[in-house]
Amino acid sequence: MSLEALYTQIADCRACPRLVAWREQVGQEKRAAFRNVEYWARPVPGFGDFGARILVFGLAPGAHGSNRTGRPFTGDASGDFLYPALYRAGLSNLPTSTHKGDGLVLHGVYITAAVRCAPPGNKPSPLEIRTCAKWTEQELAFLGNLKVYLALGQIAHDALLGYHRLRKSAYPFAHGSEYRIGERVLLSSYHVSRQNTQTGKLTAAMFDGILERAKRLANS
Ligand code: SF4
Repeated sequence: MSLEALYTQIADCRACPRLVAWREQVGQEKRAAFRNVEYWARPVPGFGDFGARILVFGLAPGAHGSNRTGRPFTGDASGDFLYPALYRAGLSNLPTSTHKGDGLVLHGVYITAAVRCAPPGNKPSPLEIRTCAKWTEQELAFLGNLKVYLALGQIAHDALLGYHRLRKSAYPFAHGSEYRIGERVLLSSYHVSRQNTQTGKLTAAMFDGILERAKRLANS
């Protein structure tokens, strides 16, 4: 199976009833600013460089962000922070991403998330995270050159530990924490959410430092 065929399977997934209901409800009700836009309202597969050495691993689609656009981190405040940072780090060709087919090309980076459907309150349940791990496993199976997992936030960090069947207590999350996992390194950052970036918990300078560290690990 190709990665494109896997994307089709992911986009048809309805395994989590609560998330299916929420993603579709949001897509029907819409935010006023997007009332004339057709929402994607389906699972959001990953995208990027299939030869990537760095995996950017997020939490879940934003209700009016990638649940609307169909591309991870596109169309909301998280993406407004992440994509310029990737561009500054030389990891993409454009400083923004607004929709699929906008010309954005990632260099050495692939982006996906622990959960592929928008959850109410941005909070997936442990069962929903475990259920969606089957798609993480299948996406990552195509990315044989990965050297760095860049987890955005504790839920993403813990989901990657779960993927490797590792105990959370032995690998606690912290901003800037690093753990070697086999041939790869798990590097973690505070999530690029508006809640963190607008309060100064995560600044552009802090995140630039994380991306520089990810690049060094990827090239070591
Ligand atoms: Fe399927 Fe993942 Fe969406 Fe659950 S969160 S319905 S497993 S794509």
